[in-house]
Amino acid sequence: MATIQGATGEWEMVIGMEVHAQVSSNAKLFSGAATAFGAEPNSQVSLVDAAMPGMLPVINGFCVEQAVRTGLGLKAEINLRSVFDRKNYFYPDLPQGYQISQFTRPVVGKGEVIVEVDGEERRIGITRLHLEQDAGKSIHDMDPGLTYVDLNRSGVALMEIVSEPDIRSPEEAGAYLTKLRAILRYLGTCDGNMEEGSLRADVNVSVRRPGEGYGTRCEIKNVNSIRFVQQAIVFEAARQVELIECGGTVVQETRLFDAVRGETRSMRSKEEAHDYRYFPDPDLLPLELDPDWVEQIKAGLPELPDEKAGRFRSDLGLPPDVVQQLVAEREIADYFEIVATGRDARVAANWVIGELFRFLNDKGIGIADSPVSASALGGLIDLIADGTVSNRLAKDVLEEMAASGKDAAAVVEDKGLRQITDSGAIEAAVDKVIASAPKQVEQFRSGNEKILGWFVGQIMKATGGKANPAAVNEILRKKLSG
Ligand code: ADP
Ligand code: MG
Repeated sequence: MATIQGATGEWEMVIGMEVHAQVSSNAKLFSGAATAFGAEPNSQVSLVDAAMPGMLPVINGFCVEQAVRTGLGLKAEINLRSVFDRKNYFYPDLPQGYQISQFTRPVVGKGEVIVEVDGEERRIGITRLHLEQDAGKSIHDMDPGLTYVDLNRSGVALMEIVSEPDIRSPEEAGAYLTKLRAILRYLGTCDGNMEEGSLRADVNVSVRRPGEGYGTRCEIKNVNSIRFVQQAIVFEAARQVELIECGGTVVQETRLFDAVRGETRSMRSKEEAHDYRYFPDPDLLPLELDPDWVEQIKAGLPELPDEKAGRFRSDLGLPPDVVQQLVAEREIADYFEIVATGRDARVAANWVIGELFRFLNDKGIGIADSPVSASALGGLIDLIADGTVSNRLAKDVLEEMAASGKDAAAVVEDKGLRQITDSGAIEAAVDKVIASAPKQVEQFRSGNEKILGWFVGQIMKATGGKANPAAVNEILRKKLSG
């Protein structure tokens, strides 16, 4: 647990998050309009999204299914009866004058996300998940001072996922968002793309003396990267501590995070639920779910990161830090499992998160687009295991496989990279080096053991790195001492 050292003693941070996750759906929550990112402004707006009088919303069943899938992935209660409410407010990018959301009866109730920070597991409670519409977007043009409204986002389906105030440090907040994002991506219910705004976090922060009740919180709106969430928390908690220690009091308010200055600023005083005049939307019936349908969705859930991690640890005996990297994305885990099938799991894991990741990072490509397939990488590992190619040259083989699209065996043959294990050939190379270096031989014989490394280097150079290092060492020692 991270504490803040104030001028008058220790403080603890209390953090709760409201995450808006855009449902991966081609159509909006209550209309058939498209949701593609980056489309021409106002090109994906139906009459419903533009709030033309008399237009009626029709619930998109696919979006409901994604919310239920997500709820199940968060180990949450599914409410078989939920209600859509109108949340009333005025804004130019909200033509209806209200947002359709869920207030007292959300589709998903209490659940949990397990996070791990510094090797310690913590449970972050999920309060609820509800479905709601996104609003449009106002685009402010300072010169000549006009504001434009783009309604493409209007009506797009969002899942608002609310956490309990269980988070206690910026690291935990980061771990929570990372894990939540991974779960959404495993489920395929949200692409988790924070740059495109598919995942946005409102961060609630308060401070208290350890052991005391909760303090007054401030809510920082719409933070769009995990790093910014952490920076915003650090700044905001320090601001509140200083304010209280100087005799002030925290006022509950909505703040925004200025990424350039790394600070939070007051935006408006906190609105309360009654300000929105919530009431059930008379255009929509309560949402009633068939329990069999929910069970069917549950049965179709993929294996999620925690379960996968547990299996990789217990069945494959992999260390926790390695497992964490392997399960971070479903594509990585899938790739790894193909490589590991029928092979040493540790060796497979080391190749995937070691050489392969290094290579992909250098080239700036994701594992899904890897030019070396999982089975091709497995083929390379087999050639190392049976001594055909040395570990050292295997890295070059990997590069060449990526460049040429050939499999490991073909690259090894074409480039003549086959490891020399034939002792006759190695002996010849050793003899030649020894004959050409009488001074170094003298040094070794007078007790300088370190010179051995120099000899190995010379022999490797002479064989193009292809000699089996173990054999070289053995033969070299024999010849030098003889
Ligand atoms: P609202 O909908 O008005 O923003 P909620 O009561 O639903 O308010 O809480 C929103 C978020 O604020 C939740 O994520 C919750 O965990 C968090 N929260 C509530 N109290 C505190 C507090 N004292 N400090 C930090 N976060 C809090
Ligand atoms: Mg809120």
